[in-house]
Amino acid sequence: MTRSIEQSGATMMGDLQQAPALALDDHRLALGHVRTALLISMLHTLVAIVYFQGGYMTGGALTLAVLLAGAWAGNLVLAMLVWRRRTLGRQDPTLSLQWNLWLTASVLTTAYFMNEFRLSMAMLFFAAMLLASFRQALPGLLLVSGAGMAGYLLVLILVWQQRGLQMNLTLEMLQWLLFCITAVSFVITGVGINALRSSLTAKNRQLNDALAQAREMAIRDELTGLFNRRHIMELLAQQRALAESGEYRFTVCFVDLDHFKRINDRFGHGSGDRVLRRFAQIAHETLREADYIGRLGGEEFVLVLPQSDAQGAAQVAERLRAALAAEDFSPLDPALSASVSIGIAEYRPGENLKDTLARADHCLYLAKSRGRDRVVAEPVSPEAALTLAPQI
Ligand code: GH3
Ligand code: MG
Ligand code: MG
Repeated sequence: MTRSIEQSGATMMGDLQQAPALALDDHRLALGHVRTALLISMLHTLVAIVYFQGGYMTGGALTLAVLLAGAWAGNLVLAMLVWRRRTLGRQDPTLSLQWNLWLTASVLTTAYFMNEFRLSMAMLFFAAMLLASFRQALPGLLLVSGAGMAGYLLVLILVWQQRGLQMNLTLEMLQWLLFCITAVSFVITGVGINALRSSLTAKNRQLNDALAQAREMAIRDELTGLFNRRHIMELLAQQRALAESGEYRFTVCFVDLDHFKRINDRFGHGSGDRVLRRFAQIAHETLREADYIGRLGGEEFVLVLPQSDAQGAAQVAERLRAALAAEDFSPLDPALSASVSIGIAEYRPGENLKDTLARADHCLYLAKSRGRDRVVAEPVSPEAALTLAPQI
């Protein structure tokens, strides 16, 4: 299968080339998320210390130390997983849900140890919710908000059980209600942000597809789907650069359909076009995966055979010639048949591409002179030279 026609192969190559960049993007994104999550944790630590200093917390210094150490142990585990790229390849490499739930647990546990100012500590939960809004879809948002609302309620129940006398239950329940309403409004905002993000992702994908299509169109010949002249010339220049940089060889074949004008004249231009397309398909089926073929224009094509000498290329070209000669065009017209002449030259290190092409063209000229429907490769046989002699 030739690269020139294997569009999916080319697309796959493009994807593969992009893969490290995508992984890098994912990692960068995840690290950005880690930074924000750690910032929220620092805020939580700072607020807890300030409240403790102000005497608004019920536990002693040891309780606070254990609380904060526990929170930071979880933070570090999550941060290390992301930092060491263990999460790449997961659906969410940022571990956003795990961060959100851990921040929620840290904040609400601290709120449990606070006196009547516990709502102000619980409000830090909304920083975690804000973070979730940008990463989570509805199920994740519902989970985080549900965990926040249920967790805060649990804190209130536990405080009421253990320090009930210090509580104004009505006020606490009203505050919890306010907390729930705010959490739900965050879910609604998150869903909106998520819809926006999905539509941006879809638009981005469409744009990339359109770009890939435009790239394909820029390098392909419309009629046959083979590479166009410009692209095959670029590939030739690349092959030459490879050959000049080390142990690398390549061979060029000029391919010209025989008496094509007659085919057009006798069977119509439409049939001529179909013959050209069928020839492209045959080439697609006959050539090796590493080979390139492009349409120079009209009924002229060029093959580029990497890591082949002229004799090896002659075998490939002969297969192509024989396949076209054996092709049954009777569905188009019982009298229709087609053949090709092929001239072959191997690139000689140091030479100009024009010279390689001129030598291949010369061989093609010899193939035509010898009667067409044949392959002539360098070094040219004396027989071919003799056939040419009377016509000079
Ligand atoms: P030879 O064996 O010497 O190559 O003879 P030929 O008739 O193939 O060569 P010539 O250069 O005289 O004619 C080429 C013909 O190819 C003339 C032109 O009308 C036809 N042609 C060029 N492009 C197209 C195309 O896109 N579609 C069709 N159907 N014909 C084309
Ligand atoms: Mg021709
Ligand atoms: Mg021609």
